[in-house]
Amino acid sequence: MSSPTAVSSSAKVVVIGAGLAGLSSAATLAQAGFEHVQVLEAMSRPGGRISTIRPFGPNVIELGANWVHGQDGNPVFSLAERHGLLSQDASARGMCQPGSLTPHDYFFREDGTLLSHKGVKQVCALFSQLTSRAFDNKLEEKFHSKSFGQYLDEAFADSPLASSFEDAAKVFEWCKRSECTDEASSSLYETSALEQKEYTCLEGDFYNCLGPGGYQAVVDVLLKLLPPGALLCDRPVTYIRWGLEPQAKGSGPFRPVKVLCEDGQEFEADHAIVTSSLGFLKDRASVFFEPTLPEDKIQAIERLGFGTVDKIFLRFNEQFWPEDCTGIQLVWEKGPEDKTIYCKLSEGDAWREMWYKKISGFDIVSHHPTVLCAWISGREAQHMETLQQEEVQQVCVRLLRSFTGWSVPEPTQVLFSTWWSNPHVKGSYTFVPFGVKGVREQQVLAAPLPNSSICTARKPLQVLFAGEATHENFYTTTHGAFVSGIREAERIIDFYTQQK
Ligand SMILES: Cc1cc2nc3c(=O)[nH]c(=O)nc-3n(C[C@H](O)[C@H](O)[C@H](O)COP(=O)(O)OP(=O)(O)OC[C@H]3O[C@@H](n4cnc5c(N)ncnc54)[C@H](O)[C@@H]3O)c2cc1C
Repeated sequence: MSSPTAVSSSAKVVVIGAGLAGLSSAATLAQAGFEHVQVLEAMSRPGGRISTIRPFGPNVIELGANWVHGQDGNPVFSLAERHGLLSQDASARGMCQPGSLTPHDYFFREDGTLLSHKGVKQVCALFSQLTSRAFDNKLEEKFHSKSFGQYLDEAFADSPLASSFEDAAKVFEWCKRSECTDEASSSLYETSALEQKEYTCLEGDFYNCLGPGGYQAVVDVLLKLLPPGALLCDRPVTYIRWGLEPQAKGSGPFRPVKVLCEDGQEFEADHAIVTSSLGFLKDRASVFFEPTLPEDKIQAIERLGFGTVDKIFLRFNEQFWPEDCTGIQLVWEKGPEDKTIYCKLSEGDAWREMWYKKISGFDIVSHHPTVLCAWISGREAQHMETLQQEEVQQVCVRLLRSFTGWSVPEPTQVLFSTWWSNPHVKGSYTFVPFGVKGVREQQVLAAPLPNSSICTARKPLQVLFAGEATHENFYTTTHGAFVSGIREAERIIDFYTQQK
């Protein structure tokens, strides 16, 4: 990295957001010798979609990011490993996905009977093969123009398994419903099959867990790299004025960007790095920038998808599930990811009545022997967030009782995440909707203002964009957020290096 110059160390950079993208960009700039870096965070805590809490005693639970996905070439993994933050406990994975099915996941039919593990395993293995084909860019041509859901349905229908096992289609519906939590979309019929290839899975374990400090420990490492006072929490930014021209009689150095906070505080800057989520931008971009964003960027914000994934935690006085059980999975007769049901529900409001059908199951939570965690995604998750806690609790208990037939006590504590209702986040993570070219839109979203080809010492890069949504291959992940923050910090560092 180039050494600081007098110009760069006097440059003022305001970073909007103290999630992983904001913190990695601020830390990179601080380490490169930038002395005036100010991070403004709307919430009362740093971390953004990393939210490690301890509501059930000393052990953590994660309301947001849970795993570090992939190892080789993942700087979040390297940082966690270097600082000894990774879990040494192999059983800490949590959450059942078709690709991570264990013999100890209990799959129940709606009538309360248990499905045979052998049949479930075969369907899940096929599902994993089919999704891997899409991720590895090995889709047959005939599927290129299909939604992810359509592709999976057709490929499944072609397989002998579809007819060899009575409940195969229902388990396949469970697999798709479960995959929605990875996609964050309301349905796999709304995402693109071909675009899956752009998401890069790194080598090494895909589900790496953090140790006792949780994901917050990663945030803490980055916070330590910032100079004192660099982070201000409870500072929602209401808008950013850029492209300002010098006034005739200005005092002090002229700065072309002004960042205004809800409390009236103003920050002048040479550069602003916006790391607000795509959900926030969808909600506020039209009023957040003055002058307004170029049309192509507004279109990119509209075209890319930002879905909701929530977790519901239920704490009981005692474990009512068998000792070996790692998850209770719900297989519906007519699940919402079945094509005909999806089509039927896509119009009107009937889906609201059946929001709970989107819950794929209840998984055990590591280091919390009496806690279960349910995952829910899409518009059903958004609807769940509007309900009272008692209603969510009643529905979950009813599901557990009716599917398992076990004696399920009332939980002593229930809590759920509300990522959609959070005005500073407005959802959980990015997906590429069916018909959208993700890479093109992500590149437009990430492009700085003004266009870097016309930047000069007199007209420098003013507004830069980082955050998970801006990364072409690692979007959705902490990894994507982290490297996008570094990318934008380096853009500024390079700008000053070229001015030398
Ligand atoms: C339920 C859930 C589970 C997840 N699981 C995983 C996982 O297992 N592994 C994984 O890799 N990723 C996971 N993710 C995704 C991961 O958390 C995100 O990709 C990553 O944390 C995003 O970081 P970011 O810095 O881009 O955005 P954010 O974390 O959203 O940070 C942006 C920050 O900007 C602030 N902000 C926004 N607008 C303003 C404003 N106007 N003024 C001031 N501040 C503002 C926000 O408050 C926020 O703190 C999960 C996310 C969720 C919600």
